[in-house]
Order: sequence, then structure tokens, then C-alpha cells
Amino acid sequence: MVAREIIPGVYQLTSGGTNLFVIAEEELTLIDTGLPGSSTGIAAFVRRIGRSVDEISSIIITHNHIDHIGAVPELCRFNDIEIIAHKADLAGFDTAPSYPHGVRRLLKIPFLHRVRRRFVLGADEVDIQLEGGEALRLLGGLRVVPTPGHTPGSICLYAPGQKLMFVGDALQRRRKKLRLPAKMVSTDLVAAVDSVKKMAELDLDIICFGHGKPLFGDAHSRLLALVERSGG
Ligand SMILES: [Zn+2]
Ligand SMILES: [Zn+2]
Repeated sequence: MVAREIIPGVYQLTSGGTNLFVIAEEELTLIDTGLPGSSTGIAAFVRRIGRSVDEISSIIITHNHIDHIGAVPELCRFNDIEIIAHKADLAGFDTAPSYPHGVRRLLKIPFLHRVRRRFVLGADEVDIQLEGGEALRLLGGLRVVPTPGHTPGSICLYAPGQKLMFVGDALQRRRKKLRLPAKMVSTDLVAAVDSVKKMAELDLDIICFGHGKPLFGDAHSRLLALVERSGG
């Protein structure tokens, strides 16, 4: 697990190309969990900052994809952890799956359907279902901004005091450029552009992505440029 401090008390951990974030306040909160098997690295990091895994009290999920929710079951063995996710990513698997069509077809094959629990979180595994617009008691008030497109229930988490936002896969940065989520793995790119427009209205200095390095400074003009490039 490669760790980097974003601001004091907020850390980005990277493993297998996916980021997760640790917010160290009185209690510890995770934003996403990485792939299955990430809990060992998370526990080691938490010890490195002088804390303990049983201080992890909640996990906020940016969206219901395996590289972000993979270690939820392992982490829940450490402690009674509250799992928080947007309700639109938790609807009945056959009615509103958060995976795009190709993956959905695969998961409908009987064997894979049986093990789908390994791929997505079910509604019964989530303690708090978000609607969007909530303010969570973290970082002085962490706002839940619904940003559908990559998945129906993708959320960004915005800390106005720190001008910091966690975007999950609702936005990506590749070769130093901001980009829409990849078409192949997203459910609705028109909605994704609208979501980027929504991000551009926020006062931002730091953007933390589900994959890749964080972006410091200049977020607003880059977001507007992306909206323009996308024909929004
Ligand atoms: Zn994703
Ligand atoms: Zn991802």
C-alpha cells in the first residue's frame, strides 16, 4: 500500500491501481476500501499512524464497484463498521445494476449470479443509504454530492472548508488531463457530463480520484474545459 498525505489527517492509500482514503479524526473513516485483500495493507497503514483498526467506525462508498468495495467484508470483521452508500447503487441487481451491460450479462450466467455478492454490495449490507445532499460529520461537514454517470449511485464527497473533493470514478485524470469516466465501464455518459458541470460549480483546490494522483489547484478551469470538450 502506497500512502500519501493529502492534507493533515487525510491520507490516500493506493493498491492495485485503486485509491482509498483514510480520514483520521477522533474515529477513523474510510472512503472506499480497494480490491478484495486490501484490509491487510489498510491495517498496517493505520498502525503506522499510531491508530488501530478497531477505531474504523465507518466506510463511505463512492460507488458500488468491486475495486472500491472489495475489502468491505474483511474490514467488517475487525469492528462493527457502519457502511454508507448511495441508494441508487443498491437497487435490486436485476432491475438497476450499477454495472454496464456487458458485465451485467456475464453476472446473469447462473454460477456468476450466485457469487455476485463478491462483486457488489447488496442493500442489506449497507447501514445508511444516502439520497444525496446530506452533510456528514467529517472534516467540518462533508457534503454528499450525487454525481451519476459512471454508476447511477456514484457520489462525490465535498469538504468546503478544505476545498477538497473525493470524486471516486465520476471523473478521471489520465495523462494529466481531466476526463469523463471511461465509456466501457460507465452506465450513462450524458449524466456524467451533467455531473462534471455540477462539480464545476464548487469552490475546489484539491480533487482526489478513485485512480491516479490527486489534482492540486486549478480545478475549476479544468472542469469547465472538460465540460466544453464533452459538448456540455
Ligand atoms: Zn468504478
Ligand atoms: Zn474504479
